[in-house]
Amino acid sequence: MFDLVIRGARLGLAEGWSEGDIGVTDGRITAIDHSLHGKVEIDGAGRWLLPGGIDAHCHLDQPDWGGARCHDDHESGGRAAILGGTTAIISFAMAPSGQTMCEGLARSLARAEGRCPVDYGFHAVATPQTGPLAEQVPVLVGAGVSSVKAFMTYEGFAMDDGRLLDLMQTCRAHGATVLVHAENDAILRWMRRRLAERECDHFGPHLLIHAEAAERDAVARMGVLAEVTGARVVIVHVTGRAGLEELARAQARGVAILGETCPQYVVFDGSVLAGPSEQALRALFAPPPRAPGTAEALWQALAGGGLALWSSDHSPCPLEDRFADGAPRHFAHAVAGVPGLETRLPILFSEGLVAGRLSLARYLELSASAAADIYGIGAKGCIAPGQDADLVLWNPETHWQVRGTEEQSKTRYSAFEGMWLTGRPETVILRGHVLMRDGALLSGPPRGCFLHRRPTDPGHFRTPLEETTPWTAS
Ligand SMILES: [Zn+2]
Repeated sequence: MFDLVIRGARLGLAEGWSEGDIGVTDGRITAIDHSLHGKVEIDGAGRWLLPGGIDAHCHLDQPDWGGARCHDDHESGGRAAILGGTTAIISFAMAPSGQTMCEGLARSLARAEGRCPVDYGFHAVATPQTGPLAEQVPVLVGAGVSSVKAFMTYEGFAMDDGRLLDLMQTCRAHGATVLVHAENDAILRWMRRRLAERECDHFGPHLLIHAEAAERDAVARMGVLAEVTGARVVIVHVTGRAGLEELARAQARGVAILGETCPQYVVFDGSVLAGPSEQALRALFAPPPRAPGTAEALWQALAGGGLALWSSDHSPCPLEDRFADGAPRHFAHAVAGVPGLETRLPILFSEGLVAGRLSLARYLELSASAAADIYGIGAKGCIAPGQDADLVLWNPETHWQVRGTEEQSKTRYSAFEGMWLTGRPETVILRGHVLMRDGALLSGPPRGCFLHRRPTDPGHFRTPLEETTPWTAS
């Protein structure tokens, strides 16, 4: 007798679609078979059973950032995750100003503990102010934080190439992966200065400040720095063709560089920012979406593996907080970022899997298993015996419209407002605990546990330059 049995659903397994029952014991999948019986049984007839999603890029409960407050914590963000069919998240243990990465992690761990309804992990964030790397990176990896994010732009956050090389070399030595926000800082600052004085009543200039050329340079440069250090790098939120081209170029040289994109880059193009300001404000994120037609290239890279990760970059800034108190309603002063935890997976399901842009195998990777593999999350990300019973029953026929005011994020809006989607998570299970049943969140204590992530497998790293240059060998 199993603790829980899900009967008769269409099963999305790594080897393909299947039919049958799933038996769960002590929070793990222990059988995939027919005619199973459990203490609790859920009828899955007419439903698709897929792994709980893993969103490896979301911002929750961060200290204030450039005048912006992070409106979701692990409670509200975790609820949004559940509604969106996601059962594990990785957010950022951003250190408050003046604190180290380790202090930032201690803060985030203490604040999330016992409050998050889904499993949660953290990426560390390295800035020029977060203290020495050599001492901290091994401590972070030992604490289950085997990834460190860095920014190539933004005042107070930007790391120059020298610091990036130090970070990458240290991360490689201790089994950590480096995440990078890749934009050329000088181009952004130069362009912002040129445009700041200009009269403009729309957000079009946001496209110029974060020009695609700035992303091209930064992605290409990260490819070179990864080649020199042998580190493994994830370029977060790749927006379009320039980033894809530079990623592919570095990958072709054997550099350990991976790309992530987000729903907002396939749903929008840059024209949204020059349009009516209400919709532009809803779709204000950085870097911005690109030229019309870009979505096709991103979907191709998602389908073919050129992009490895599909994340939300959930950045909970309410519309009324787009401008700090007293700041002019001008593009140069707006705070960017959109919520997305609740819509990340439904958009992938509807526009990727149902629309036929993605195979089942690629959907499974992008929804969960790629994040589990890349970031060292154990026993999650697919439906197989021995895996955590993180499961989502989808109704593939539900045709519904995104409504921000109905979402769990405290921002109370969605960038994707009004978008029609096919298929919706109905029942969500975390390690055998039913968190949502037939579309309704169930009450009960928060079940989320900290994800103590494995170090990056040494096989993922490349040989650093100094070990392949023969005349320097001792
Ligand atoms: Zn982000």
